[in-house]
Amino acid sequence: MLYLRNLTYHPTASPTPILKSINLEFAPQQLGLIIGPSGSGKSTLLEILAGLAESTSGEVYWRNQNLTPAHLQQLAGLVFQFPERHFCCGSILEELRLGHPELGSERVRNALQEVGLDALSLQTPPHSLSGGQQRRLALAVQLIRQPHLLLLDEPTAGLDWSMRQNLVKLLEKLKQHWTLLVVTHDAGDLLSIADCCWTLNHGELQSVEPDKISISQQLSAVSS
Ligand code: ADP
Ligand code: MG
Repeated sequence: MLYLRNLTYHPTASPTPILKSINLEFAPQQLGLIIGPSGSGKSTLLEILAGLAESTSGEVYWRNQNLTPAHLQQLAGLVFQFPERHFCCGSILEELRLGHPELGSERVRNALQEVGLDALSLQTPPHSLSGGQQRRLALAVQLIRQPHLLLLDEPTAGLDWSMRQNLVKLLEKLKQHWTLLVVTHDAGDLLSIADCCWTLNHGELQSVEPDKISISQQLSAVSS
């Protein structure tokens, strides 16, 4: 189980806290979905969970271990919003091995199999892939590290309808083996595969039942 206890983030540059006493419990091999409008603090929360930013107060626990940002960097894998913008290598193989040159060909093959890209040549340049394939590669780049917690920032943003449907199907498959926490401003695509759901508004997190999220809540999350 992942537990957040009274997590607050209030950088001195900000007049108000960006995350306000967040409490969350989340079981493994599930897909958790956090829905909130732009500026509500979604990316900030993922950065803290990935160990890239440090909370002002509060704790993160995995099982009964209190985690530091260094632990979180080991435990979690973050797929940024528009991850394809961060590709920097000339081939799929180099992209997957970036920072982990020790990873063998079996780990590479498994990661690509997980995301359905195993039919491609390892020498394919990431920039020549389709938009949907690039998103899959970005997932594989994190999965190859075998993170306990996979964090996804707006995974369907900027994809057309059929690419979104394919990505949702892939995430549904991945949650059988992995623990996924997804943030989005657009609940529509992902609600059907979410096991648990929260809304985030102005840094306040609230648990909601996935099947109780009404169209009006989705709309207010988008427009507020
Ligand atoms: P979302 O991903 O939901 O759109 P963000 O987490 O990116 O929201 O940002 C939440 C709010 O916090 C925004 O208003 C943003 O401008 C602000 N913010 C994020 N990081 C900092 C920081 N280090 N200092 C001041 N303000 C910040
Ligand atoms: Mg964001």
